[in-house]
Amino acid sequence: MEMISFEQAYDIVINSGSKTGTEVIPFTDSLNRILASDVFSDIDLPPFNKATVDGFACRRPELGNYLEIIETIAAGQWPVKPVEKMQCSRIMTGAPVPSGADCVIMVEETEILPSGKVRFKGSFKKENIAVKGEEVKKGDMVLAAGRKIRPQEIAVMASVGHVSVTVSKMPEVAVISSGSELVEPFEVPGISQIRNSNSSQLLAQVAMAGATGNYYGIAPDNVDQTYLIINKAISENDIILITGGVSMGDFDFVPSVLERAGVEILFTRIAVQPGKPTTFGLHPDAVVFGLPGNPVSSYIMFELLVRPLIAKMMDYNWQPLNIKLPMNEKFSRRFADRMAFIPVTITDDGFVSPVEYHGSAHISAIPEANGIVTVPIGKQTIEEGEIVSVRQI
Ligand code: AMP
Ligand code: MG
Repeated sequence: MEMISFEQAYDIVINSGSKTGTEVIPFTDSLNRILASDVFSDIDLPPFNKATVDGFACRRPELGNYLEIIETIAAGQWPVKPVEKMQCSRIMTGAPVPSGADCVIMVEETEILPSGKVRFKGSFKKENIAVKGEEVKKGDMVLAAGRKIRPQEIAVMASVGHVSVTVSKMPEVAVISSGSELVEPFEVPGISQIRNSNSSQLLAQVAMAGATGNYYGIAPDNVDQTYLIINKAISENDIILITGGVSMGDFDFVPSVLERAGVEILFTRIAVQPGKPTTFGLHPDAVVFGLPGNPVSSYIMFELLVRPLIAKMMDYNWQPLNIKLPMNEKFSRRFADRMAFIPVTITDDGFVSPVEYHGSAHISAIPEANGIVTVPIGKQTIEEGEIVSVRQI
């Protein structure tokens, strides 16, 4: 199968996969979920004319005079007396402003005379009243579907009494690692073995992307065992991620096992570096990614292809955060026939610095990186000081 461009691969992936559907949950359980229907307010906000400072509610034309204090209004209390000529009420932040009053003067700008009257000694700046409904009117939309629910969104739902919220169901994502050299992290590798780092890394990436990860273990380099695991995973999940076994080695038979399991393979090579052997296919029950075994390649291909698909399946209007910054050193490469993704660090003084990185197996380099810079096909060098677009990771 021929090699395709990253853009072609992205197009194929993003147009695959079905919507996950929705469910209704308590708003207090909705952190990090994707809001699936718009939220409307059941009340005006603020619900009444509200004092925004501690002070005295009075009538603006009378500010130069000595005013009689007729009442003290605490937050949570409804005022009983209207403010009339030459009067004011002592009022606390958050309390309803009494009728008759059109401003609240700050306590710091007043003096109380021995007579018990109060006098304004500042210069008038503002009313210090939040007017009923000025923020939100009853029936207004306060949150639009498609956003991720953060603590801020939870506060809005609390304010408008939206205690049951419709969210997108989380895609079920199977994680499988393939390779007879692999042992689990709690085991001590034998002389020809290495620890399986891809599975834990992918399960963490799946969780960060807002989906549910289901681990299916290590598939040894054996066609029948790999087939059984893949088949089971396909019947139980929306997305299958299998790492390793997609290169050109004698035991890299993941694509052929996928075909045997009824997966229609759409691509097996992308013109990218790292990540070239990334494989993708469709089954009636799931979409399947064969990710490269190299941990850095697997990490980057998840970020660039799997994560956008997970967002799309949940109708999450996610956009990766890209910022434009200058390079702090020259970058050059010998071949420019593939699109390159270089892990970079954004320095404290706002420059982009490629992390020291010796190929796609250099796993200890990735924790240093907080961004990825894309180098297009045909571009061999990035000059020192050249502005690049950094995608946050
Ligand atoms: P493969 O794609 O199977 O040829 O694997 C490419 C490289 O990635 C080899 O050096 C593997 O040992 C390594 N590798 C494969 N799977 C994993 C894994 N789950 N965790 C860590 N390294 C892996
Ligand atoms: Mg292998």
